[in-house]
Amino acid sequence: MDKKEIIELLQSTGREREILLKRAAEVKKQVVGNKVYFRGLVEFSNVCSKDCLYCGIRKSNKKVVRYNATDSEILDSCRFALENRFGSVVLQSGEVSSPVFVKRVDNLLKTIKKLSDGELGITLSCGEQSRETYARWFESGAHRYLLRIESSNPELYYKIHPKNKNHSFERRLESLRFLKETGYQVGTGVMVGLPFQTYDDLANDLLFFKEIDIDMCGMGPYIEHEGTPLYEFRGSLKTKAERFDLSLKMIACLRLLMPDINIAAATALQAIDPAGREKALAVGANVIMPNLTPCIYRKEYQLYEGKPCLDEDAELCRNCLEARIEISGNEIGYGEWGDSKHFANRTKK
Ligand code: SF4
Repeated sequence: MDKKEIIELLQSTGREREILLKRAAEVKKQVVGNKVYFRGLVEFSNVCSKDCLYCGIRKSNKKVVRYNATDSEILDSCRFALENRFGSVVLQSGEVSSPVFVKRVDNLLKTIKKLSDGELGITLSCGEQSRETYARWFESGAHRYLLRIESSNPELYYKIHPKNKNHSFERRLESLRFLKETGYQVGTGVMVGLPFQTYDDLANDLLFFKEIDIDMCGMGPYIEHEGTPLYEFRGSLKTKAERFDLSLKMIACLRLLMPDINIAAATALQAIDPAGREKALAVGANVIMPNLTPCIYRKEYQLYEGKPCLDEDAELCRNCLEARIEISGNEIGYGEWGDSKHFANRTKK
């Protein structure tokens, strides 16, 4: 698909839209099958050194109560994932790169590997770090890394981030390159329906994913947060229903463009439509991230407003997702890492 065709698909309605979603579902089934892989999400700290203009836990938001889950809380969540045969966990936090933080994550990785006898796959999502840090964490057991670009258009990037050294677009790209060179399965993604974002930007985002040859992707609708500077532009946004629909079409187009990658059904979809994640699974997504963050911290990890499942403990969350996935006609890949087929294909070349 070229850019013009992608834009047409993103703008499609009626029968053309139906054909796009149906075709993406077929390609997903043919290439990656109908298994959905769980990644138990542990949002272990909301301390962040950055000030992204859309993010509810940005450094300047003084209303947020900052937390650091204890090692024992994090390990309990990982044990839950292991006992419930989730296959993998994702350790996610705000962006901190102090030596203490780097060492702490390193120790956690080693401990999780040990407690699960290597059984749990580990994805990290801890922002931009030095090449050495990425290598150290890889050595200690992380094998997938999520680092969203949020927009591949530098102009738009600097409309949603402060333009300073701490929020450099170039550094973001460099980090993605370091991750790939280190040997990680690399995931990125964007927000859909941002203020100032055009169809041209979104089509370019998809082509950017293809160009840098990602292994995994997480995309969801942009949802405005009152405690952020970008909230000022809420009047220019598409409706939430439109942002939701556009996110589904982005997922479907990406499945057609990169058939063998892993695509996550982002939780933000469910913030708009209660069946949002199942709808994403039906049009191309194959990964879901049940929240294993201890309930006492969840309300302090709200990157956007209306985040679902704030009060559901891990057990409830698992039961609810299992039922939803069954209804959607998919099957859960219990106990499997569910690594990106694309990664296997690109690394055997
Ligand atoms: S998006 Fe990530 S890096 Fe940016 S402020 Fe939020 S937590 Fe920090």
